[in-house]
Amino acid sequence: MKIDKQAEKRLETLGAFEISNEMLGLARKNEKSNIFLNAGRGNPNWINTQARLAFARLLAFGVAESQRTIAQGTMAGYTEQAGIRERFEAFLDPENDPTDVFLTRALAYLKETLALDLDETVKEFVDGIIGNNYPVPNRVLKNSETIINRYLQETLYNGVQLADQTQLFPTEGGTAAIVYIFNSLKENKLIKAGDKIAINTPIFTPYLQIPELNDYEMVEIDLRSSEETGWEITPQAIDKLQDPEIKAFFIVNPSNPGSKAFDEKALQEISKAVAKNPDLMVITDDVYGTFVDGFQTVYSVVPHNTLLVYSYSKLFGATGWRLGVIAIHRENVFDRLIKNLDPADQKALAKRYDLVVLEPEKMKFIDRMVADSRSIGLYHTSGLSTPQQLMEVLFSLTHLIAGDQDPYIASSKELVNTRYEDLYASLAITPDESRENAKYYAIIDIYRLAEKHYGPDFRKYLEYNFEQVDFLLKLAEKNGVVLMDGVGFGAAAGDLRVSEANLPTEDYRLIGKQILELLQEYHKDYQAE
Ligand SMILES: *Cc1c(COP(=O)(O)O)cnc(C)c1O
Repeated sequence: MKIDKQAEKRLETLGAFEISNEMLGLARKNEKSNIFLNAGRGNPNWINTQARLAFARLLAFGVAESQRTIAQGTMAGYTEQAGIRERFEAFLDPENDPTDVFLTRALAYLKETLALDLDETVKEFVDGIIGNNYPVPNRVLKNSETIINRYLQETLYNGVQLADQTQLFPTEGGTAAIVYIFNSLKENKLIKAGDKIAINTPIFTPYLQIPELNDYEMVEIDLRSSEETGWEITPQAIDKLQDPEIKAFFIVNPSNPGSKAFDEKALQEISKAVAKNPDLMVITDDVYGTFVDGFQTVYSVVPHNTLLVYSYSKLFGATGWRLGVIAIHRENVFDRLIKNLDPADQKALAKRYDLVVLEPEKMKFIDRMVADSRSIGLYHTSGLSTPQQLMEVLFSLTHLIAGDQDPYIASSKELVNTRYEDLYASLAITPDESRENAKYYAIIDIYRLAEKHYGPDFRKYLEYNFEQVDFLLKLAEKNGVVLMDGVGFGAAAGDLRVSEANLPTEDYRLIGKQILELLQEYHKDYQAE
């Protein structure tokens, strides 16, 4: 396929993920027969083994337990709680199996630190993994909620104690969490057509795309960050949130594609903005939080105003499992705003939810999300599959047992860090070494790179003579490298996102080399003209 200017213009109307998909074919049969390098996607190329092996051990134990009640060929029965903790300890062989060492430590942690009843908890684990019961309670399993809450506190709250005051709704990845939140905010009339919502751009594309859909028709207020401010949101931008016209603030923190976490100053500004605009609803997506040292979520700063979204996908290499969670404080602005809706809206909502609860006016926003996630009518079979909930629990436990110096988290950070450093070294540009940089993604500004290597006139030549996706496209077509277009995320023209997650570490120098090689070819053409 030959791509002309017109085709490029059409391509630019697609979303960033879709543009990148279009380029995969071009890159695979690239002109130089280079190896195909796709640094477009954020899917990690590493996994956590410990929690997965523990899942397998618990499954084996669960099957043995089921055979205690019925054992007929491949058919087994149900499990029994009495004595299950003791039988589980007898089943484990920590002398010979490192996974059993982990599970033994997990039991001690659950008893001593979280004060859980071990018979009840082991029974919940076993039944959860066997998966022979609908999720009950449907929002989240009882002890699982305690464990996941503690994990979120230890990894994201920077010492603020909120685990005991936080309610959870595990979901099919962060993806479902985002969909459920938008949907229930709308159904409960907390955001209406024409409302102003703020987002910190550049941002993960769904947050840009969903509000523009006909169903929502919200006005976006863009709190922009840029390379000049190190992709850090500025206090002046946050000040805009003091305007009570702004109903909601959607955040990705650390950002994607900017990869920067809000610094202390930004967090203070948010706290000030909420003091002035106490009805502000904040939705924060903290999927990359564990990649930043000393990370602090906005939830821990303004807990009563914030819904937190977390996903296990990135840190644990678990995108196929679909593991996410929504967290919300027991006392929150969402419930308060629902109570303050005008009588007509109240009445309509009571009618909506009285199909499934006796006192719909008392139904909390988080439970409304659970009901809405299954169109209300299927509330009784709602909730994340129990094996998925248990996988979240086991991933959480790997960190809770390892503590602050968690070697798995350290290794994950080091991996993306090395790739980031290699990329910047090969491009001969200065990396951003600030603490807030998660380094999961890098944004390379091609125009700036052009100016740095060949001067301002060449930069102008590139800007004025080519469509903004031209470089990206040529990089795929000629050199076999796929990156992502930052424009789709709301970044400036020429900003390309490189993911440090999904290629072998040695490839990152090669990506830098290919970028510079292509730039040199543009420069040759420029000189020839
Ligand atoms: C990857 C990503 C998600 C999606 O997470 P899943 O759990 O895989 O659905 C959500 N938000 C951001 C910002 C992401 O980068």
